[in-house]
Amino acid sequence: MTRHPIAADGSLDFPPADTAPAPVSFAEWHRAATDAPPAPVLPPDASLLVIAAHPDDEAIGAGRLLADHRGLVRCVTLTAGEHCHGEDADAGQVSRLRLREWAEALAVLGAEPVETTRWPDGGLSGHEDEATEALAGLATGVDFLLAPWQHDPHPDHEAAGRIGASLARRTGLPLWAYLVWTPYWLTPEDLARRGAGLLTHPTSERAERLWREALDCHHSQLTAQPPASHPVVPAALLDRHDRQLLIRETHACHA
Ligand SMILES: [Zn+2]
Repeated sequence: MTRHPIAADGSLDFPPADTAPAPVSFAEWHRAATDAPPAPVLPPDASLLVIAAHPDDEAIGAGRLLADHRGLVRCVTLTAGEHCHGEDADAGQVSRLRLREWAEALAVLGAEPVETTRWPDGGLSGHEDEATEALAGLATGVDFLLAPWQHDPHPDHEAAGRIGASLARRTGLPLWAYLVWTPYWLTPEDLARRGAGLLTHPTSERAERLWREALDCHHSQLTAQPPASHPVVPAALLDRHDRQLLIRETHACHA
């Protein structure tokens, strides 16, 4: 049974960590990940533009890939994730902290943070055309796009995925999707129903170490911030990201 908090209309009612339903079983994900066939190898010197909705998305979902990649990796986060600690937290302060963590994590991964317009955390879906337009200006010289999977269960991740797909259609660039909350809230059958096939991107031991090191930079997400009793990103989510998984978004690409 699928117990992720997605409403019938496809929107996400993301509950506070304290009251969230139990995630899908680790065993199911582990089996799906183990069975995932290898992804075609990305040319090691290719230039990548990596799209995220929040400052920790690409580290969680694509950090190993970025750590191994030799070509230019430029990253954008379309929000500063300023509302992650609830309405009582100072959004400006949270925003500055998260963007600093983002830059530190990207330095660990050998990727370059790129300044862009940022849209409201939790409200990215209202700005998809503007965001696509802004990113089109960054796509010159890029060989591949990476973005959250369009069905990753968070409204901003879904929006970022659609923005990536729009950019891929507009530029003709190939798009790979990475996962953030999917291994926690969705079952492998949920992916199959959406026509998505998981692929494994083989990564090195060094990438494994740097992935963990990059995640440690996101202290505000991985540790409980009082008065919350749970971190925004539970350890059980990271456990499910035990290898680099990808989805090829072929429908989005003319190339
Ligand atoms: Zn996110």
